[in-house]
Formats: sequence, C-alpha cells, structure tokens
Amino acid sequence: MIKKRIILITLLVALTNLAMAQAIKKIERMDPPNWWVGFQETKLQIMVYGKNIAETEVSFKYNGVKLLKINKVENPNYLFIDIEIAKNAKAGKIEFMFTPPGKKSFTHAYELQERIIKENQHAGFSSSDVMYLLMPDRFANGNPNNDNVDSLLEKANRNNPDGRHGGDLQGIINHLDYFAYMGFTALWLNPVLENNNPAYSYHGYAATDLYKVDARFGTNEQYLELIEKSHQKGMKIIMDMVFNHISTYGFLIKDIPMKDWIHQFENFTRSNYRASVISDPYHAEFDKEIMEKGWFDKHMADLNQDNPFVENYLTQNSIWWIEYASLDGIRMDTHPYPEKNMMSRWAERLYREYPKFNIVGEAWMQKVATTAYWQKGTLNKDGFNSNVRSVTDFPMQGALIKAFNENEGWTEGMSRLYYILAQDFLYANPNELFTFLDNHDLDRFFSSINYNLSSFKMALGFMLTTRGIPQIYYGTEILMDGIGGEGHGTIRKDFPGGWSDDQINAFTQNGLTNEQIEAQDYTKKILNWRKNNALIHSGELTHFLPENGIYVSFRHTENAAVMIVLNNKYDQSFETKRFAEILKKYSNGYDIIYEQELKSLEKINMPAKSIRIIELKK
Ligand code: CA
Repeated sequence: MIKKRIILITLLVALTNLAMAQAIKKIERMDPPNWWVGFQETKLQIMVYGKNIAETEVSFKYNGVKLLKINKVENPNYLFIDIEIAKNAKAGKIEFMFTPPGKKSFTHAYELQERIIKENQHAGFSSSDVMYLLMPDRFANGNPNNDNVDSLLEKANRNNPDGRHGGDLQGIINHLDYFAYMGFTALWLNPVLENNNPAYSYHGYAATDLYKVDARFGTNEQYLELIEKSHQKGMKIIMDMVFNHISTYGFLIKDIPMKDWIHQFENFTRSNYRASVISDPYHAEFDKEIMEKGWFDKHMADLNQDNPFVENYLTQNSIWWIEYASLDGIRMDTHPYPEKNMMSRWAERLYREYPKFNIVGEAWMQKVATTAYWQKGTLNKDGFNSNVRSVTDFPMQGALIKAFNENEGWTEGMSRLYYILAQDFLYANPNELFTFLDNHDLDRFFSSINYNLSSFKMALGFMLTTRGIPQIYYGTEILMDGIGGEGHGTIRKDFPGGWSDDQINAFTQNGLTNEQIEAQDYTKKILNWRKNNALIHSGELTHFLPENGIYVSFRHTENAAVMIVLNNKYDQSFETKRFAEILKKYSNGYDIIYEQELKSLEKINMPAKSIRIIELKK
C-alpha cells in the first residue's frame, strides 16, 4: 500500500515537472518580432511572452550583441531582455537559450536583419502632398473571403452601421489608380491592426495586437504589398497609430505584464477629454490626472507611458512598422492624452532614425494657441517641445464650417478665415499644419455647410491653396453626408462602388448625381493642378483684409504668383488697386477654376458665392 502511494506520488511529481517543463518551453511571442542592425539607437528591449518564462535562465552568444539586463516583472509570463547591438554587428539570428530550473534548455531564434534603405523610402509628407483619409472597413471590399475569420470575434454585417462591412486592404489596392487619377499623393488609413473586440471593431482604434494587421483587412504581407504598389504610383502611406490606449481584449491586458502597465482606478474613470489642461498654466493636478490617466472608453485601457517598459514597447513598435513597411509617415491618435514627455522623446527618436519622416499629431483643440503648444519648436513658456512637426488644424476646420454659412461681419464670414491665419505667428511652422474639412470623427462637411455646392467649392479651393498639408476624407469629393451625432456609422458610410453589388459607383461616376459629379471633377481639377505646383507647396502667403465678402490671398515668390479670391456674397466685381504690392508685377492671368483668360486685372468680376484661382502673368 505504502509502496503504491510512493509510486503514485513519484508519478505525479514527474508529470507535474514534465507539464511545467513543457509549458515553459513555449515562447508565445517575442516583441518586436525581429530587429535590424545599423540603427542610431543601439539598445533594444525584447519582450518575451510565454507561460512561466520568468523562471528560465536566459543566455546567448552573438558577435556584437551584448546582454545588458534581464528584467523580471510581476507577471512570470513575461521577460524583458535588454540588449545592445553594436553599430558594426552583422545581420543574423540570435539563438536565445532558455533554461528552466533543473530542466533541459531550449532555444528560440531572433532575427537581426540588414536594413534596406531604398531611395525615397520614409519620404515623409509635406505641404506638397494632399492626403486621402479612408476607413479600410468602409472603402472597398476586395476580398469577400476575409469578411469573417474564425479566430476573430466580430463577424461582418453590412446592415449594422456600427458593424464590420468587409472592406479591406485588397479593396484599397484595387483602387490605387483612382487616388492617383484624382491627384492625391498620400493615403492615410484609419488603423489596420488587429482589433479582436466583440463589437465596434471596424474603426480600428482599440488594438489587440500591435504587430499584426487585422486578418479581416488582410495580412502584414498584404500591407507591404499595398505600400509597395502605392509607392510605385507615387503615393505615400501614413500609418495611424494609437499610443494612448489598447483594447482590454488583447493579451497585454488580459494577462497584464505588471499592474502599472496601464492606469487603473477603483471604478471605471473616463478621461475629461480636455486636452487644454495640459498647456493650461493654472491647471489643477486633479484635472490633468483625469485627462491623462482617465480611460478614453470602457474597453480602451489607458496605457501608462511613465512606465519605461511601456515607453520602450510603444517606441520600438513604431520603429518596427516604419522599417518593416517603409512607411512615409505616422498619424498619432489622441496625441495630447499620453504622457507628453514620453511622446516628445518618442518623436525625437523617430526623427533621429528617419530625418525625412513626418508625424502628424491629432490635437483636437478649438483654439490656435492650444494647438500651437503641440507643434515642434513652438516657444512654450513651460519649455515643452512636442518634437512633432505636424499638428491637426482644428481651428481652421472650425472656421471653414462656419465661414460660408453665415452673414459677413467683423469676425464672421470671410473674416473668420482671415483671423485664423492672422494667428499663425503662434506656430513654429504653419505650413506643416494638417488642414481638413472633415474626418472620421466629424460631421460630413457637406452636411456642415447646409448641402451647398458653392460653399463646398469655396472651402475646398481655399484649403487646397492656403498654407498647410491638406487632407480629404474619403467620400468628401462626392459630397457624402452625415451627422456624427446620429451615430458614427452615418459619417463612415460605405464608399459607393466599393462593393460588387453596389448600385452606385463613384469610381466610374455611374449613378452619381450631377452635383456629385461636379464636386468630384472639381476636386480632381484642383488636386492635379496643385500636385506639381511649388508655389502652392511653399510659396509665401499674403492675404488682405476681407471687404464686402471678398477675401483675397496670394501665394507668391519673387517671380510668380497665384491669386485666390473668395466671394461669400452676391454677384459683384471689385477694384484691385489695394492689392498693388503683389499685382503691380502682373498684367493678366488665367483662372484655373473657370478655365478663363483674364485679359485685365484691374477689375475682377465674381459670381455669387464663388472662388477664382488665378495664375498671374506678366
Ligand atoms: Ca473583405
């Protein structure tokens, strides 16, 4: 009897040991999944994830790579390995050896690749670009076979405005010619990373895996294909990234590495969304804490960027994507919400590795001063420098949706635009502001301006000729409408023609209304004119005080000038004497909007609610 029990216990112990050894043998993942030799920054922190991996001893031998530190954290399923890769280290595979206590070792290979720097790679974006923003789930369904994926929770339902509609990367690849034909030079896709959430997964802003494209959009390889093909057509790709939060459904939250990986509260605490408190010299710490640490939404866990492991994880993640996918730029979501000094170090690091690269930070602020706070080089009293070159120009957007909808006044109508530009002295670089009429979070522009095609033309023409880097939201060119307050689905409707059974096709104009066709042609005309027009990209800007609804601005250099005239009133003509400081050099012009020669510039006739863009000639 006793003998039997001993045997049983021995057997149990052996089985337990075996189970443990087997469990430890499994490395679920190493993040980043690979790295490159030859970066300016030689340090790398690899996160190893696997059941009880912290119980193992780690070692490796690789010429030029030094082990700095092995960090064990609260959760034994994680190890953070700090290594240093010498500048002259060669590409190859590091064989990491993991030795569980009293057990046989096992190895896991980690690849160090050669960096391939191609010409025009990571080109950055600038005022020479016009960016097309599209929501991958809502643009075009190029592969109905990936609409539903077994391993991913939410299934497609095109009848649900907040559900997944099946759009994907293949759909975007299929329509690259459309973007090029329209005259766009860059694409910004709303986030494409895995969002394995039970609902609202289509928008992409709650990632469950920061290294993997959502399988319902395609694969990482297909993302590369999209970028390569875009580059071949002269189009840049901007990746949308979110450092403020990740989904509560991802492994990093379900099996959290350490308690302070995220900001945790006793009860659910929402951000106050008042980004102005960050730059407010009189802010209360209470408000700042809630702003930064409160959660953006119930299933969006608020990352703690004060935690150096989080900082490394996020920074390396963005470098990995830039290098892996040859990205041209990043759009950083909710830029003022994460800890700002970490974000500043992050941007500085990216520009150090990729000097031509560009980043636009989403700083959703109504005022010029609070927006300027977030642009690189702004002389902030508190000494803060975001290091992010481009910032979203919400103040201009706010002015554009009002200016054409109201009567002219001291500060209304055209003066609204004038006063926004008149505050540009606050910005370190106004020409790197990111300008737009609408985006995925805002009412559709056509709805905002009371469905008025003339207002649309004036606003778009102005935005495309003033300073800044313009962005156009998919469907705006065909007057898609919708009010965000009626649900986000209404401002993120499917692009007509993106699905094989669509009755209307915006790619062929089949079924579009005459107004829609006019708007699309108008957009295409200005975009293609703007595309190679250095005057608009970088010429000086001079504008004159609006008078009687006429607002005149010029983009000019020593020897060339374009005159942009907006008339927000009735049919009228105006004398041009007061513009002599620019006009004196020119005697006639060509209006690209009306495709009309202007033989004299002394008096210019303007139809009611109209815009002229006049190339001046000597
Ligand atoms: Ca699909």
